[in-house]
Amino acid sequence: MKFFNIPEQAASWCESERDRARTIGLVPTMGALHEGHLSLVEQALAENDLCVVSIFVNPLQFNEASDYEAYPRDIDTDLNLLKQYGCSMTFTGSLSDFFDGAKNPGDIPLLDPGPFAQGLESEHRPGHFAGVRTIVARLFQTVRPDRAYFGEKDYQQTLIITDLAGQLGYPEVVVCPTLREHDGLAMSSRNRRLKPAERAEAAGIYRALCAARTAWLSGQRHPAILSARMHEVLKTTSLEVEYAEVRDPNNWNAVNGEAMTGTARALIAVRCGEVRLIDNLELA
Ligand code: AMP
Repeated sequence: MKFFNIPEQAASWCESERDRARTIGLVPTMGALHEGHLSLVEQALAENDLCVVSIFVNPLQFNEASDYEAYPRDIDTDLNLLKQYGCSMTFTGSLSDFFDGAKNPGDIPLLDPGPFAQGLESEHRPGHFAGVRTIVARLFQTVRPDRAYFGEKDYQQTLIITDLAGQLGYPEVVVCPTLREHDGLAMSSRNRRLKPAERAEAAGIYRALCAARTAWLSGQRHPAILSARMHEVLKTTSLEVEYAEVRDPNNWNAVNGEAMTGTARALIAVRCGEVRLIDNLELA
């Protein structure tokens, strides 16, 4: 496996592989890899000649300095795992390397995050999706992948990235299923920061999502009532709820309106001790 510390070198490597007609699948990550990330690598390898993984804890998408600092980092273990899984190339870089020598984040022009950025994550993490869209666009320009792989776990992010790829005209965005622990908790790099008691409480997120799905399957279609079902379950835990909502992916910005008819997705964000966790589940 090739490893580059400088995005420009990664870009040259990708260019020479593309010249040899190799197809490239890109998996953008912030490292501290777990099985969820590695499932994206496996899918990228199954569908492309080469898999490229970026590892970069992007300061542009953190709205709290303490969250950025506490974000887990373990590049040596990550590189070993990626080697074992058959990843072709991994790269990282500094913010300045990614953005033409910019000295501080304020100098970097941020992209408009687009129509799917309203509410939910944006409401609780102002500026988050502008930072995400800006770095992902830069990763796409660096690698010029045929396909890029993202986890359904960050559902609102997949809408924003699909919109970005539509605007750029590439790559094909592949959304991969969420990998979960035995009790349903979505795998996340942040889980390793949970204390044992918090880890047990965190399973309440999936229980709440499942309660919304059970209500949906028994005919409930009102987003406010489905949301209330989730809040009831979350109230039985010590989790501090930021949001627990149901949205229609085909009518994203309609909030708690009429009964839903087509697609629906339940989405939750909570604080569990000092750790922020998100998850979601398709209801229909
Ligand atoms: P991150 O390193 O958290 O930015 O995640 C990198 C990619 O892995 C994103 O596309 C995530 O949605 C995806 N991902 C994170 N957790 C999971 C999971 N449990 N299952 C599948 N994909 C995941």
